[in-house]
Amino acid sequence: MSAVPESPPRSWAEIDLAALRHNLKAIRNLGNQQVMAVVKASAYGHGLEAIAKTLDHEDLTFFGVANVGEARRLAEAGVQTPIYLLGGTFPAEREEVVACQWLPCLNTMEEAEHFDHLARARGSVVEAHITVDTGMGRGGFLPADTLPALLAIRALPGLKVTGIGSHLPSADEDTAFTMKQFKSFDTLIESLPERGELTHIHLANSAGLLGYKSRTTTLVRPGLMLYGVPPVANAEISLRPVMNLKSRIAVIRNLPPGHGISYGRTFITTRPTKVGTIGIGYGDGYPRVAPEKNAEVFVRGRRVPLLGRITMDQVMADLTDLPECSPGDEVELFGSNIPVVEVAHKAGTIPWAIFTGITPRVERVYSG
Ligand SMILES: *Cc1c(COP(=O)(O)O)cnc(C)c1O
Repeated sequence: MSAVPESPPRSWAEIDLAALRHNLKAIRNLGNQQVMAVVKASAYGHGLEAIAKTLDHEDLTFFGVANVGEARRLAEAGVQTPIYLLGGTFPAEREEVVACQWLPCLNTMEEAEHFDHLARARGSVVEAHITVDTGMGRGGFLPADTLPALLAIRALPGLKVTGIGSHLPSADEDTAFTMKQFKSFDTLIESLPERGELTHIHLANSAGLLGYKSRTTTLVRPGLMLYGVPPVANAEISLRPVMNLKSRIAVIRNLPPGHGISYGRTFITTRPTKVGTIGIGYGDGYPRVAPEKNAEVFVRGRRVPLLGRITMDQVMADLTDLPECSPGDEVELFGSNIPVVEVAHKAGTIPWAIFTGITPRVERVYSG
Protein backbone atom coordinates (compact mmCIF):
# COMPACT_ATOMS: atom_id res chain seq x y z
CA MET A 1 0.00 0.00 0.00
CA SER A 2 1.30 3.43 -0.82
CA ALA A 3 1.64 6.09 1.87
CA VAL A 4 -1.27 8.43 2.44
CA PRO A 5 -0.32 11.89 1.22
CA GLU A 6 -1.02 14.73 3.63
CA SER A 7 -3.35 17.34 2.17
CA PRO A 8 -2.39 21.00 2.26
CA PRO A 9 -4.21 23.13 4.86
CA ARG A 10 -7.56 24.68 3.90
CA SER A 11 -6.53 27.98 5.42
CA TRP A 12 -3.12 29.22 6.34
CA ALA A 13 -1.26 32.36 7.37
CA GLU A 14 1.90 33.15 5.44
CA ILE A 15 4.33 34.85 7.79
CA ASP A 16 7.01 36.91 6.04
CA LEU A 17 10.01 37.10 8.37
CA ALA A 18 11.87 39.45 6.01
CA ALA A 19 8.97 41.89 6.39
CA LEU A 20 9.29 41.56 10.17
CA ARG A 21 12.98 42.53 10.01
CA HIS A 22 12.13 45.37 7.62
CA ASN A 23 9.56 46.76 10.07
CA LEU A 24 12.01 46.61 12.97
CA LYS A 25 14.51 48.54 10.87
CA ALA A 26 11.84 51.13 9.96
CA ILE A 27 11.09 51.60 13.67
CA ARG A 28 14.79 52.00 14.45
CA ASN A 29 15.13 54.50 11.61
CA LEU A 30 12.72 56.77 13.46
CA GLY A 31 15.53 57.20 15.99
CA ASN A 32 14.84 54.30 18.32
CA GLN A 33 17.93 52.18 18.67
CA GLN A 34 16.77 50.30 21.76
CA VAL A 35 13.66 48.22 21.24
CA MET A 36 11.54 45.92 23.37
CA ALA A 37 9.77 43.72 20.83
CA VAL A 38 6.28 43.02 22.13
CA VAL A 39 5.59 39.34 21.37
CA LYS A 40 2.67 38.68 23.74
CA ALA A 41 -0.31 36.59 22.63
CA SER A 42 1.85 34.34 20.43
CA ALA A 43 3.45 37.37 18.80
CA TYR A 44 0.03 38.78 17.92
CA GLY A 45 -0.96 35.44 16.43
CA HIS A 46 2.13 35.22 14.20
CA GLY A 47 3.68 32.39 16.26
CA LEU A 48 5.74 33.11 19.36
CA GLU A 49 8.70 30.81 18.83
CA ALA A 50 9.30 31.57 15.14
CA ILE A 51 8.98 35.33 15.61
CA ALA A 52 11.18 35.34 18.71
CA LYS A 53 13.86 33.17 17.11
CA THR A 54 13.99 35.56 14.17
CA LEU A 55 14.16 38.68 16.33
CA ASP A 56 16.66 37.10 18.74
CA HIS A 57 19.40 37.95 16.23
CA GLU A 58 18.40 41.60 15.99
CA ASP A 59 20.09 42.97 19.11
CA LEU A 60 16.86 43.75 20.93
CA THR A 61 16.90 44.98 24.50
CA PHE A 62 13.91 42.87 25.63
CA PHE A 63 11.09 40.64 24.53
CA GLY A 64 7.85 41.87 26.10
CA VAL A 65 5.37 39.15 27.08
CA ALA A 66 2.10 39.18 28.98
CA ASN A 67 2.61 36.32 31.41
CA VAL A 68 4.87 33.57 32.70
CA GLY A 69 3.42 30.98 30.31
CA GLU A 70 4.73 33.01 27.38
CA ALA A 71 8.02 33.70 29.16
CA ARG A 72 8.47 29.95 29.69
CA ARG A 73 7.81 29.23 26.02
CA LEU A 74 10.48 31.78 25.06
CA ALA A 75 12.95 30.27 27.51
CA GLU A 76 12.22 26.77 26.17
CA ALA A 77 12.80 28.05 22.63
CA GLY A 78 16.28 29.00 23.78
CA VAL A 79 16.16 32.71 23.02
CA GLN A 80 18.90 34.86 24.56
CA THR A 81 17.14 38.25 24.60
CA PRO A 82 16.07 39.17 28.17
CA ILE A 83 12.37 38.62 28.88
CA TYR A 84 10.20 41.37 30.35
CA LEU A 85 6.72 40.83 31.83
CA LEU A 86 4.47 43.68 30.69
CA GLY A 87 1.78 43.30 33.34
CA GLY A 88 1.29 42.48 36.99
CA THR A 89 2.05 38.96 38.20
CA PHE A 90 -0.08 36.62 40.29
CA PRO A 91 1.47 35.75 43.66
CA ALA A 92 1.79 32.08 42.60
CA GLU A 93 3.79 33.05 39.48
CA ARG A 94 6.51 35.03 41.22
CA GLU A 95 8.71 32.16 42.40
CA GLU A 96 9.18 31.07 38.77
CA VAL A 97 9.88 34.67 37.70
CA VAL A 98 12.65 34.94 40.29
CA ALA A 99 14.12 31.52 39.51
CA CYS A 100 14.19 32.17 35.75
CA GLN A 101 15.43 35.77 36.01
CA TRP A 102 12.62 37.25 33.96
CA LEU A 103 12.11 40.96 34.55
CA PRO A 104 8.85 41.86 36.24
CA CYS A 105 7.34 45.31 36.31
CA LEU A 106 6.34 46.40 39.80
CA ASN A 107 2.81 47.74 40.21
CA THR A 108 2.33 47.80 44.00
CA MET A 109 4.44 47.69 47.16
CA GLU A 110 2.84 44.32 47.95
CA GLU A 111 4.26 42.91 44.70
CA ALA A 112 7.68 44.47 45.37
CA GLU A 113 7.86 43.11 48.93
CA HIS A 114 6.85 39.64 47.80
CA PHE A 115 9.55 39.60 45.08
CA ASP A 116 12.11 40.83 47.62
CA HIS A 117 11.10 38.05 50.01
CA LEU A 118 11.32 35.35 47.33
CA ALA A 119 14.65 36.59 46.01
CA ARG A 120 16.25 36.69 49.43
CA ALA A 121 14.95 33.19 50.19
CA ARG A 122 16.87 32.01 47.10
CA GLY A 123 19.89 34.14 47.91
CA SER A 124 19.42 36.13 44.70
CA VAL A 125 18.45 39.59 43.56
CA VAL A 126 15.57 40.29 41.15
CA GLU A 127 16.03 42.95 38.51
CA ALA A 128 12.75 44.81 37.99
CA HIS A 129 11.22 47.93 36.49
CA ILE A 130 8.73 50.21 38.20
CA THR A 131 5.46 50.92 36.42
CA VAL A 132 4.02 54.42 36.67
CA ASP A 133 0.32 54.98 35.99
CA THR A 134 0.26 58.21 33.98
CA GLY A 135 -3.24 57.52 32.69
CA MET A 136 -3.70 53.90 31.65
CA GLY A 137 -5.39 52.85 34.89
CA ARG A 138 -4.24 49.24 34.59
CA GLY A 139 -1.39 49.09 37.08
CA GLY A 140 1.55 50.90 38.58
CA PHE A 141 2.19 53.75 40.97
CA LEU A 142 0.55 57.12 40.51
CA PRO A 143 3.12 59.80 39.61
CA ALA A 144 2.85 61.41 43.06
CA ASP A 145 3.55 58.05 44.73
CA THR A 146 6.42 57.05 42.49
CA LEU A 147 9.35 58.71 44.28
CA PRO A 148 8.46 57.30 47.72
CA ALA A 149 7.83 53.88 46.12
CA LEU A 150 11.18 53.99 44.31
CA LEU A 151 13.00 54.88 47.53
CA ALA A 152 11.20 52.14 49.48
CA ILE A 153 11.92 49.55 46.78
CA ARG A 154 15.57 50.59 46.52
CA ALA A 155 15.84 49.83 50.24
CA LEU A 156 14.79 46.19 49.64
CA PRO A 157 17.95 44.07 49.32
CA GLY A 158 16.32 41.43 47.12
CA LEU A 159 15.33 43.92 44.40
CA LYS A 160 17.33 45.98 41.95
CA VAL A 161 15.37 48.61 40.05
CA THR A 162 16.97 49.01 36.63
CA GLY A 163 14.13 50.66 34.77
CA ILE A 164 10.87 52.52 34.83
CA GLY A 165 7.99 52.57 32.39
CA SER A 166 4.48 53.80 31.75
CA HIS A 167 1.83 53.11 29.11
CA LEU A 168 -0.29 55.22 26.72
CA PRO A 169 -4.06 54.57 26.63
CA SER A 170 -4.85 56.76 23.63
CA ALA A 171 -1.78 57.63 21.58
CA ASP A 172 -3.80 56.71 18.46
CA GLU A 173 -6.88 58.72 19.46
CA ASP A 174 -6.08 61.69 21.70
CA THR A 175 -2.95 63.65 20.83
CA ALA A 176 -3.48 66.36 23.45
CA PHE A 177 -3.81 63.87 26.30
CA THR A 178 -0.83 61.86 25.05
CA MET A 179 1.35 64.99 24.80
CA LYS A 180 0.45 65.78 28.41
CA GLN A 181 1.36 62.22 29.39
CA PHE A 182 4.78 62.49 27.72
CA LYS A 183 5.37 65.78 29.51
CA SER A 184 4.35 64.55 32.95
CA PHE A 185 6.37 61.34 32.52
CA ASP A 186 9.48 63.31 31.49
CA THR A 187 9.05 65.72 34.39
CA LEU A 188 8.68 62.86 36.84
CA ILE A 189 11.75 61.05 35.52
CA GLU A 190 13.84 64.22 35.66
CA SER A 191 12.87 64.68 39.31
CA LEU A 192 14.05 61.24 40.40
CA PRO A 193 17.32 60.97 42.35
CA GLU A 194 20.13 58.74 41.02
CA ARG A 195 18.55 58.50 37.62
CA GLY A 196 21.66 56.79 36.35
CA GLU A 197 20.49 53.57 37.99
CA LEU A 198 17.45 53.58 35.71
CA THR A 199 19.00 52.12 32.58
CA HIS A 200 15.71 51.55 30.80
CA ILE A 201 13.09 54.27 30.63
CA HIS A 202 10.10 53.53 28.40
CA LEU A 203 6.69 54.85 27.46
CA ALA A 204 5.86 54.43 23.77
CA ASN A 205 3.83 51.66 22.15
CA SER A 206 3.43 51.71 18.36
CA ALA A 207 1.22 54.80 18.21
CA GLY A 208 3.47 56.56 20.74
CA LEU A 209 6.40 56.17 18.32
CA LEU A 210 4.74 58.40 15.76
CA GLY A 211 4.74 62.12 16.31
CA TYR A 212 5.62 62.24 20.01
CA LYS A 213 8.99 63.11 21.53
CA SER A 214 10.36 62.34 24.99
CA ARG A 215 13.39 63.91 26.67
CA THR A 216 14.01 60.93 28.93
CA THR A 217 13.05 57.60 27.40
CA THR A 218 15.71 55.13 26.23
CA LEU A 219 13.55 52.34 24.88
CA VAL A 220 10.37 51.84 22.83
CA ARG A 221 7.86 48.97 23.04
CA PRO A 222 6.29 48.39 19.60
CA GLY A 223 3.90 45.54 18.96
CA LEU A 224 1.50 46.19 16.09
CA MET A 225 4.02 48.08 13.91
CA LEU A 226 6.49 45.20 14.07
CA TYR A 227 3.83 43.10 12.39
CA GLY A 228 3.52 45.68 9.66
CA VAL A 229 0.36 47.53 10.61
CA PRO A 230 0.33 51.29 11.19
CA PRO A 231 -1.70 52.12 14.32
CA VAL A 232 -3.05 55.33 12.77
CA ALA A 233 -4.06 56.38 9.27
CA ASN A 234 -1.43 58.31 7.26
CA ALA A 235 1.45 57.10 9.45
CA GLU A 236 4.79 58.45 8.22
CA ILE A 237 6.48 55.07 8.15
CA SER A 238 6.84 52.40 5.49
CA LEU A 239 5.79 49.05 6.91
CA ARG A 240 5.25 45.69 5.24
CA PRO A 241 2.48 43.33 6.40
CA VAL A 242 3.98 40.23 7.99
CA MET A 243 0.84 38.08 7.87
CA ASN A 244 -1.10 37.14 4.74
CA LEU A 245 -4.23 35.15 5.64
CA LYS A 246 -5.13 32.78 2.84
CA SER A 247 -7.48 30.00 1.79
CA ARG A 248 -8.73 28.45 -1.43
CA ILE A 249 -11.92 28.21 -3.43
CA ALA A 250 -13.53 24.83 -2.81
CA VAL A 251 -16.74 25.03 -4.82
CA ILE A 252 -17.92 27.19 -7.73
CA ARG A 253 -21.59 27.23 -8.73
CA ASN A 254 -23.86 29.31 -10.92
CA LEU A 255 -26.98 30.42 -9.07
CA PRO A 256 -30.08 32.01 -10.61
CA PRO A 257 -31.44 35.40 -9.52
CA GLY A 258 -33.54 35.30 -6.34
CA HIS A 259 -31.45 32.66 -4.52
CA GLY A 260 -30.50 33.25 -0.87
CA ILE A 261 -26.89 32.96 0.29
CA SER A 262 -25.81 31.85 3.78
CA TYR A 263 -27.51 31.91 7.19
CA GLY A 264 -30.37 34.31 7.63
CA ARG A 265 -30.62 34.72 3.82
CA THR A 266 -29.42 38.31 4.23
CA PHE A 267 -28.18 38.27 0.63
CA ILE A 268 -30.42 37.33 -2.30
CA THR A 269 -28.89 37.17 -5.77
CA THR A 270 -30.21 39.79 -8.20
CA ARG A 271 -28.57 38.37 -11.35
CA PRO A 272 -27.21 35.04 -12.52
CA THR A 273 -24.31 34.80 -10.07
CA LYS A 274 -21.15 32.73 -10.07
CA VAL A 275 -20.66 31.92 -6.38
CA GLY A 276 -17.37 30.66 -4.98
CA THR A 277 -17.26 28.93 -1.61
CA ILE A 278 -13.98 29.52 0.22
CA GLY A 279 -12.57 27.22 2.90
CA ILE A 280 -12.28 29.64 5.80
CA GLY A 281 -14.71 31.10 8.34
CA TYR A 282 -15.03 32.52 11.81
CA GLY A 283 -13.82 29.16 13.20
CA ASP A 284 -10.46 30.18 11.75
CA GLY A 285 -10.68 33.65 13.24
CA TYR A 286 -11.84 35.51 10.14
CA PRO A 287 -14.27 37.97 11.75
CA ARG A 288 -18.03 37.82 11.27
CA VAL A 289 -18.19 40.95 9.14
CA ALA A 290 -21.81 42.03 8.61
CA PRO A 291 -22.81 41.55 4.92
CA GLU A 292 -23.78 45.21 4.53
CA LYS A 293 -20.18 46.20 5.29
CA ASN A 294 -19.18 44.76 1.90
CA ALA A 295 -16.04 42.88 2.88
CA GLU A 296 -13.84 41.90 -0.02
CA VAL A 297 -11.26 39.22 -0.67
CA PHE A 298 -8.47 39.08 -3.23
CA VAL A 299 -8.58 36.41 -5.96
CA ARG A 300 -6.57 36.21 -9.18
CA GLY A 301 -5.33 39.76 -8.94
CA ARG A 302 -8.55 41.50 -8.04
CA ARG A 303 -10.96 42.24 -5.23
CA VAL A 304 -14.31 40.47 -5.15
CA PRO A 305 -17.15 40.95 -2.64
CA LEU A 306 -18.18 38.41 0.00
CA LEU A 307 -21.87 37.47 -0.07
CA GLY A 308 -24.07 36.91 2.97
CA ARG A 309 -22.95 35.99 6.46
CA ILE A 310 -19.59 34.49 7.35
CA THR A 311 -20.12 30.88 8.48
CA MET A 312 -17.89 28.87 10.80
CA ASP A 313 -15.87 27.11 8.11
CA GLN A 314 -16.79 28.69 4.78
CA VAL A 315 -17.55 32.03 3.18
CA MET A 316 -19.07 32.79 -0.20
CA ALA A 317 -17.72 35.27 -2.74
CA ASP A 318 -19.14 36.72 -5.94
CA LEU A 319 -16.93 35.47 -8.79
CA THR A 320 -19.27 36.56 -11.58
CA ASP A 321 -16.70 39.00 -12.96
CA LEU A 322 -13.88 36.44 -12.76
CA PRO A 323 -14.83 33.86 -15.41
CA GLU A 324 -11.37 32.25 -15.34
CA CYS A 325 -11.63 31.23 -11.64
CA SER A 326 -11.54 27.57 -10.74
CA PRO A 327 -11.69 25.40 -7.61
CA GLY A 328 -8.34 25.33 -5.81
CA ASP A 329 -7.59 28.98 -6.61
CA GLU A 330 -5.86 30.87 -3.81
CA VAL A 331 -7.72 33.62 -1.94
CA GLU A 332 -6.23 36.36 0.26
CA LEU A 333 -8.49 37.36 3.15
CA PHE A 334 -6.09 40.05 4.33
CA GLY A 335 -2.41 40.91 3.95
CA SER A 336 -0.56 42.59 1.10
CA ASN A 337 -3.63 43.40 -1.00
CA ILE A 338 -6.39 43.79 1.58
CA PRO A 339 -5.08 45.64 4.65
CA VAL A 340 -6.01 43.96 7.94
CA VAL A 341 -7.04 47.42 9.14
CA GLU A 342 -9.77 47.46 6.49
CA VAL A 343 -11.15 44.09 7.60
CA ALA A 344 -10.99 45.15 11.26
CA HIS A 345 -12.80 48.38 10.49
CA LYS A 346 -15.57 46.61 8.58
CA ALA A 347 -15.90 44.07 11.39
CA GLY A 348 -16.19 46.81 14.02
CA THR A 349 -13.00 45.68 15.76
CA ILE A 350 -9.26 46.44 15.81
CA PRO A 351 -6.34 44.79 14.00
CA TRP A 352 -4.85 43.61 17.34
CA ALA A 353 -8.03 41.57 17.96
CA ILE A 354 -8.10 40.17 14.40
CA PHE A 355 -4.49 38.93 14.66
CA THR A 356 -4.87 37.39 18.10
CA GLY A 357 -8.16 35.79 17.06
CA ILE A 358 -6.68 33.70 14.22
CA THR A 359 -7.18 30.19 15.58
CA PRO A 360 -4.77 27.22 15.69
CA ARG A 361 -6.65 25.60 12.80
CA VAL A 362 -4.89 28.12 10.54
CA GLU A 363 -1.44 26.77 9.78
CA ARG A 364 1.35 29.34 10.07
CA VAL A 365 3.73 29.02 7.12
CA TYR A 366 7.03 30.89 7.40
CA SER A 367 9.24 32.40 4.72
CA GLY A 368 12.04 34.95 4.51
C1 LIG B 1 0.76 45.46 24.21
C2 LIG B 1 1.63 46.51 24.78
C3 LIG B 1 2.46 47.26 23.94
C4 LIG B 1 2.45 47.17 22.43
O1 LIG B 1 1.36 47.91 21.93
P1 LIG B 1 1.15 48.15 20.35
O2 LIG B 1 0.05 49.13 20.30
O3 LIG B 1 0.77 46.85 19.76
O4 LIG B 1 2.43 48.67 19.83
C5 LIG B 1 3.35 48.14 24.54
N1 LIG B 1 3.38 48.30 25.88
C6 LIG B 1 2.56 47.60 26.71
C7 LIG B 1 2.64 47.82 28.18
C8 LIG B 1 1.65 46.70 26.19
O5 LIG B 1 0.84 46.04 27.01
